[in-house]
Amino acid sequence: MQASCQCGQLRAEVPGATMAVVACHCIACQKRSGSPFGEAAYWPHDQVRIEGQSKHFSRATDAGGTFEQWFCPDCGTTVFMRGTKNPGVTGIPIGLFDTPHAMQPIRSVWEESRHAWVEIPTAVQHFARGRID
Ligand SMILES: [Zn+2]
Ligand SMILES: [Zn+2]
Repeated sequence: MQASCQCGQLRAEVPGATMAVVACHCIACQKRSGSPFGEAAYWPHDQVRIEGQSKHFSRATDAGGTFEQWFCPDCGTTVFMRGTKNPGVTGIPIGLFDTPHAMQPIRSVWEESRHAWVEIPTAVQHFARGRID
């Protein structure tokens, strides 16, 4: 499966089934995505093939770790993300996939900052704060 930024310059390719799809309601994901929540599907680093130019942004997390994201320098779309909290996995927002897919969040995290009108009906696990794995 192929994911790409808005302009198509930065791409990620994954072999197929994801480890998990997570919806995150934290303020940082809201800022990153411009949406009321962020969501991403996760694969082991070595299953993700990246093509194209990217810029990198890194921030400290509340838990004392680092969260990193790589975005297209032309259109600004974040295409992949990694965090020290979940070493070894790369997240890709599911809205970036070019091909039809059936990925759905199974986990909803940081619900303490969830917008009241947002519901993730496919999530079977709910956490007030963070959890990916
Ligand atoms: Zn782009
Ligand atoms: Zn988040």
